[in-house]
Amino acid sequence: MLTEIHVVTLFPDWIRQLSTIGLTGKALSDGRITLRCFNPRDYAAGAHRSVDDRPYGGGPGMVMRPEPLALAIQSAAADSDQPVAVLSPQGMRVDQRSIERLAGRRRLILVCGRYEGIDERVVDELIDEEWSLGDFVLSGGEYAAAAIIDASIRLQPGVLGHEQSAEQDSFSQGLLDCPHYTRPEIWRDRAVPEVLLSGDHAAIKRWRRRQSLLRTLHRRPDLLQNVSLDETDRRLLAETEVGE
Ligand code: SAM
Repeated sequence: MLTEIHVVTLFPDWIRQLSTIGLTGKALSDGRITLRCFNPRDYAAGAHRSVDDRPYGGGPGMVMRPEPLALAIQSAAADSDQPVAVLSPQGMRVDQRSIERLAGRRRLILVCGRYEGIDERVVDELIDEEWSLGDFVLSGGEYAAAAIIDASIRLQPGVLGHEQSAEQDSFSQGLLDCPHYTRPEIWRDRAVPEVLLSGDHAAIKRWRRRQSLLRTLHRRPDLLQNVSLDETDRRLLAETEVGE
């Protein structure tokens, strides 16, 4: 169970904002999980406390200097045997399975890069794993760290209102979630599917499962390769749309 989140960042105020927002923020602000930031600038020597420098070999941009960053990482990882993860577009792509693993750690240690990135020797010396949000480039690791922190906290017991709400979410059972509706019954001439108003719980469960299967088939057929469909699922997929 996650009890500590340590983030190495040049923008601690940005990360601390997370404890003010939503259910995951509540878990951070009521002490269930402690969030601490370690700013390399606090570990930088010299009057200017400089944390970046020009890249060897020339070229645009700046690189995070190794020593202040390394000292901040070592503080964040002190008294812990948990892996140190850096956010990087070159890392492993984060998915729900990896979030489940990260969420199971006692301490989540996340290192946010800025500028052109961090001095590679720090990666060699102190980093155990690299995580990417996807094939695009952010201006800082804080955006990716925030996503991982939120996704990990919402899996902690008692954080979400209803015990099952994380279980029904997309990816947790390997499928996309079904569509959801709330009042009014008719909105701009669009009606809520009748079955959801029927009170027939078995029919509603069947409808939701079928919608999940269909959505996954149409939007993310790749996911179906890792889900074992039983006979009922195959029958649901084969049903016609009539009666919905
Ligand atoms: N020069 C680097 C490259 O092309 O691989 C990109 C550096 S980026 C401008 C600055 C920082 O943002 C990175 O060090 C990393 O921490 C973070 N970052 C950027 N894109 C990311 C992504 N897709 N996933 C996770 N972190 C990312």
